[in-house]
Amino acid sequence: MSASQNPDAPTLLVKIFGKDQPGLTAGLFETLAAYSVDVIDLEQVVTRGRMVLCALVTQPPTGAEGDLRATVHHWAETRRVQAEIISGTGDNRPRGLGRSHVTVLGHPLTAKSTAAITARISESGANIDRIFRLAKYPVTAVEFAVSGTDTASLRSTLAPEAAALGVDVAVVSAGLHRRAQRLVVMDVDSTLIQDEVIELFAAHAGCEDKVAEVTAAAMRGELDFAESLHARVALLAGLDASVVDEVRSAVRLTPGARTLIRTLKLLGYQVGVVSGGFTQVTDALQERLGLDFAQANTLEIVDGKLTGRVTGEIVDRAGKARLLRRFAEQAGVPLSQTVAIGDGANDLDMLNAAGLGVAFNAKPVVREAAHTAVNVPFLDTVLYLLGVTREEVEAADAHAD
Ligand SMILES: [Mg+2]
Repeated sequence: MSASQNPDAPTLLVKIFGKDQPGLTAGLFETLAAYSVDVIDLEQVVTRGRMVLCALVTQPPTGAEGDLRATVHHWAETRRVQAEIISGTGDNRPRGLGRSHVTVLGHPLTAKSTAAITARISESGANIDRIFRLAKYPVTAVEFAVSGTDTASLRSTLAPEAAALGVDVAVVSAGLHRRAQRLVVMDVDSTLIQDEVIELFAAHAGCEDKVAEVTAAAMRGELDFAESLHARVALLAGLDASVVDEVRSAVRLTPGARTLIRTLKLLGYQVGVVSGGFTQVTDALQERLGLDFAQANTLEIVDGKLTGRVTGEIVDRAGKARLLRRFAEQAGVPLSQTVAIGDGANDLDMLNAAGLGVAFNAKPVVREAAHTAVNVPFLDTVLYLLGVTREEVEAADAHAD
């Protein structure tokens, strides 16, 4: 058994702290190389020009430890950094079972929120193994690698705390699946786009108030979605079909929508939309954004006029979950690898069926029931929940141009 595998073998932790400068890491290891030690673990973090470097190495040959300590301290003095050398045995303590990634999004991220979230993690019996900043723009996103508790219970511990603090917290299980190909399915109205499409139609039909009233009640979960859909579409009867083009061009994408989709596609994800709105709009979005899947209701048009009816398979609350399953099957992605994003009560079945359900600026009833919530108005922040960093997003953007 080599010294690096033997838990009882003496080891040295060499910690260097100070102003980052070129060649510091190389300098330390050139110094250590004179003592023929092996590297067991190595981590380095630089924050605003200050470096912390920790190297766990095997013990030098008998009698050489004192000399190694003196040489490293002397080297550190010449480089104006601090060195600490701690004797011990073996490698790091193995990480606990039950590993999760906890992503915290703040706008801003306050010390108070960070204190509360980390305190809850600690009280749950879990350990924070690593901390890493994913993004500073448009939100501050920090990821904690946590071990020692199961993902579901950590999620239920942190969700109410996050809601009370007004920060977004996502807890996902760690593991290889995070790097596997996935499928992201989004709602359209008030998720991918800022508008409710039926309200855009209603504006042309002069029945905005009536339609908005029914939409709000349906989204709060007070009305059966299919019933409310038929009631609202009926109000559009007789509208000229040319309105479809006007509505299509009036649709406004949510900030970050293009970045989210472009980045997901570059990562090899498949992306789809399911909408309780209309194919007359979602087909155009599919084309424009290069989506792999799109399904919605279809407004019936006869003799150049809307009839006030929809045709084909109705996309309602159950329909959205059904379509998520269908898209996953077609994409060859297990349901556990899917991510669903939505804001309304009719998205709830889909959000719960997905591996990760994200409530996006959602109504309270949806926010409380979903795995995680994003309450900042930028759709690309969903990328941080998947462990993608802002740097990677920007590199992908540069690549696309
Ligand atoms: Mg919606």
